[in-house]
Amino acid sequence: MDEGQRAGRPCPRCGTPMYHRHCKYVCPNHGVIYDCADTFY
Ligand SMILES: [Zn+2]
Repeated sequence: MDEGQRAGRPCPRCGTPMYHRHCKYVCPNHGVIYDCADTFY
Protein backbone atom coordinates (compact mmCIF):
# COMPACT_ATOMS: atom_id res chain seq x y z
CA MET A 1 0.00 0.00 0.00
CA ASP A 2 1.30 3.38 -0.93
CA GLU A 3 -1.01 6.07 0.29
CA GLY A 4 1.04 8.71 -1.52
CA GLN A 5 -0.31 7.35 -4.79
CA ARG A 6 -3.92 8.04 -3.98
CA ALA A 7 -5.32 11.18 -5.41
CA GLY A 8 -7.24 13.07 -2.83
CA ARG A 9 -8.80 16.41 -3.54
CA PRO A 10 -7.80 18.58 -6.42
CA CYS A 11 -5.69 21.56 -5.49
CA PRO A 12 -7.91 24.62 -5.03
CA ARG A 13 -5.36 26.72 -6.86
CA CYS A 14 -4.37 24.66 -9.86
CA GLY A 15 -6.72 21.68 -9.94
CA THR A 16 -3.94 19.12 -9.81
CA PRO A 17 -4.84 16.09 -7.70
CA MET A 18 -3.08 16.42 -4.41
CA TYR A 19 -1.20 13.68 -2.66
CA HIS A 20 -2.54 12.59 0.66
CA ARG A 21 0.49 11.94 2.76
CA HIS A 22 -0.24 10.93 6.33
CA CYS A 23 -2.40 13.79 7.50
CA LYS A 24 -1.40 16.30 4.87
CA TYR A 25 -2.54 17.15 1.42
CA VAL A 26 0.36 18.06 -0.78
CA CYS A 27 0.08 19.67 -4.18
CA PRO A 28 2.97 18.76 -6.49
CA ASN A 29 3.02 22.37 -7.62
CA HIS A 30 2.37 24.25 -4.40
CA GLY A 31 3.49 21.98 -1.59
CA VAL A 32 1.45 21.37 1.50
CA ILE A 33 -2.03 22.83 1.16
CA TYR A 34 -3.74 21.39 4.21
CA ASP A 35 -2.56 19.46 7.16
CA CYS A 36 -4.08 17.75 10.12
CA ALA A 37 -3.97 20.93 12.15
CA ASP A 38 -6.84 22.12 10.00
CA THR A 39 -10.25 20.66 10.53
CA PHE A 40 -10.49 19.94 6.85
CA TYR A 41 -10.29 16.56 5.23
ZN1 LIG B 1 -1.62 23.44 -6.73
